[in-house]
This record gives sequence, C-alpha cells and structure tokens, in this order.
Amino acid sequence: MLTVEEALTRVLALARLADTEVLPLSRCLGRVPGVDTVTAPIDVPPFANSSMDGFAVVSGDWPAELRVVGEVAAGALTLPEVRSGTAVRIMTGAPLPPGADSVEPIEDAVESDGVVRFPEPIAAGSYVRRAGHDTQLGDEVPLATAPLSPALLGVLTSLGLTTLAVRRRPVVAILSTGDELVAPGEPLRPGQIYDANSPALGAAASEAGAEPLVLPRAPDVPAEIERRIREAVATADLLVVSGGVSVGRHDHVRDTIERLGDLDFWRIAVQPGKPLAFGEIDGRPVVGLPGNPVSALVTFELFLRPMLRAMLGLSGDGRQRVVARAGERIGKDRERRAYLRVRVERTGDGFTARSAGGQQSSQLRSMAEANGLLIVPEGTPAAEAGEPYEVILLGDVA
Ligand code: AMP
Ligand code: MG
Repeated sequence: MLTVEEALTRVLALARLADTEVLPLSRCLGRVPGVDTVTAPIDVPPFANSSMDGFAVVSGDWPAELRVVGEVAAGALTLPEVRSGTAVRIMTGAPLPPGADSVEPIEDAVESDGVVRFPEPIAAGSYVRRAGHDTQLGDEVPLATAPLSPALLGVLTSLGLTTLAVRRRPVVAILSTGDELVAPGEPLRPGQIYDANSPALGAAASEAGAEPLVLPRAPDVPAEIERRIREAVATADLLVVSGGVSVGRHDHVRDTIERLGDLDFWRIAVQPGKPLAFGEIDGRPVVGLPGNPVSALVTFELFLRPMLRAMLGLSGDGRQRVVARAGERIGKDRERRAYLRVRVERTGDGFTARSAGGQQSSQLRSMAEANGLLIVPEGTPAAEAGEPYEVILLGDVA
C-alpha cells in the first residue's frame, strides 16, 4: 500500500502546467495570473493632486492672508496659477495647480471675504499626492501566483490595463459509472439511486479552479465505458471516473484504462478511499475514484485538488490547517491513515473537533456537515478524546 504522500507525488508528476488565455479583467477574479509581473505603462496617479479638500498654496507664504483666486475640482482641465499671496480652492483628487506645492486642509482654514488665513505654517508637499506615489511608470508590479483578488484587479485597472493573461482552467471530465445510477429528476425504480458523484465532483473541480465537464452517466458495460473514456480524453485535460474501480464482477473501469493506456493501480493506506486507478491515456491523466460518494470526494480532495492546482501553477491544496483536540473518541481502521469528517469549533485558545456524523464512506451527510477532515495517523485504532490532531479545514470555523 502506498502512503498518501507517495501517491500524491505520483499524481503530481502527471500534472502539466496549463497554458494561458487573455481575458478581460472583469472576468479575471479568482483566476491565476499567467505572467509574473506587469510593467506599469503610466504613473499612478498620473499627476500630482490634492489628498484633501482645502487650499492650494505656496508653502513659504506664512504668516499671510491669501487671496482666493480660483477653484479646481477633481477632473478640472484648466488650472489657475498660484502665486505668492494667493491660494486656490482645491478638492480631493484635483490636480495641483501650477505654482502651488502644498495644500492647506479646509479644516485649518479661516476664510472671510475672499481671503483665507491659517494658524500654522505648512511644510512643502503637505497633502499632495505626487505623480506615481502608488505606482511609478516602469515599475514591475508583481502578480503573486495566487488567484486574482479584487484589490489586484483594481491596481491593474488603475494602470490602464483592460486584459490579462491567465492560466486556462483545466477541463475536468467527470464520468459516473454504475447500472444503479439515475439522473436527478428521473423517477427511482427499485434498486436505483441518484447519481450524487457527478454534481459533487463537478463542484469540487470548480472549487479547485478547474472547469468541470460533467458527462452523461455510463452503465457497467465495458464497450460503453470504453467509448465514453475515449471521447473524454480527446477533449479534457483530466478525466475523473467514479465507480467500477474495485474488484467486483461489474467493475470495468480499471480494465478499460489498462486496455486503452497505461494503468497504475494503487492501494493507498487511507480511510476513506479504497483502491484508486490512476493512469494515462493518449498523454491525458485518467483517475478512477471509488464510487462511494465520501471516498470519491475525499480522494478528490487529497489527490486531485492538489493536481488541478499544480496545473494552474498553484502549490499545495490551498486549505488552511489547524490543530484541534478530539472532543470525543472516534474509531477508525487501525492500519490506514484516517481523514475523519468533523465539526471544528473554537474553544478557549484552541480548537475542538467532534465527529460530524456517521463515518462510513456511503454516509455523505456527514461530509456535508463537516467543516474539516481530522487526520489520524496509521497504526492507531481511533482519534482519542483530548488528543491533538491536525485538521484540514474545508469550511469556516465558528
Ligand atoms: P463501486 O465503486 O462502483 O463499487 O460503488 C461503490 C458504492 O458507491 C456502491 O454502493 C454504489 O452504488 C455507490 N456509488 C457509485 N457511484 C455512485 C454515484 N455516482 N452516486 C452515488 N453513489 C454511487
Ligand atoms: Mg459500481
């Protein structure tokens, strides 16, 4: 059996960096920049301007009574000149008029009959934002390898950019297999269940930054599974098949991958998560996940989320981790490392984790209730009450 780390190393070895596409900035939120830096084509701000409502003055003019000779608002095109003995009324963001080197805030001004006085002298440059004080023409503005934030989109727009090269979102084809599966909206006949993996895995792929392509379900018929897998690898960057990877008589996914490409079939010392089929067909990675919905989602979390992020140029799984004390004993398989579904809460100066419900791999409700996966090492029979364990946070902690 492989450890989680060994399996992850093999998965990541097949992750190819996505190429880039140029998008309008309005569509770039959350996308990963495809370039390291952007060279500022202008100063921001492009001109010296006032940071306050007040009076543009010559800083040496004090003590003095200054005649107010004009006014400049933000966006003003004509700028009255400021000479010694005069001041120009100015608004926040308005260009500093020629001759002035400082702004006296209106709060400090005593004004009457077109004349303004100030109680204190002012230092040159006060309340003036010089051209380029945020970014200078020619600056290399770093774009971290991280999803674009609202603030960075604002920065790029202030530089006058309208588009950016971002990593193309890897297309992840999702194929659920199983004769018992029915699409939501259809009536359930005896022996049938709704296909929960297609929407759940599609959503997990979206959440990881990929573009899901959910395919119609395939029955447990080898020829049909083969046809679907062939189609999918022709269009997708990664194919995720769920169900049919174990050793049952109707499990055909492993054989099909083996026939069409190169198959690695692993047993991973992880709970939940049974054997995982992993391979390549025509140079495209193909993964067969266990059909049990929790196993499918947890193995997606542990292996495919980091893989998709690597394809986007991002490292790790992008999840926060905390150490939490188990609030109760939660049993597990002694041999395997467990990722138990828990509710994590802040308690005192730390965190406490309790089971989010049934821990069988068919009990998806507890996965939906959980805000974390409590990692309990190999070789132990349970998470013991009061002991500290690392938790991968999947959601907000109250
Ligand atoms: P399998 O991996 O095909 O042996 O399936 C294991 C268990 O997961 C069986 O109980 C299946 O009915 C169930 N299962 C497989 N695929 C899905 C799915 N897409 N949605 C819900 N349950 C599934
Ligand atoms: Mg099956």
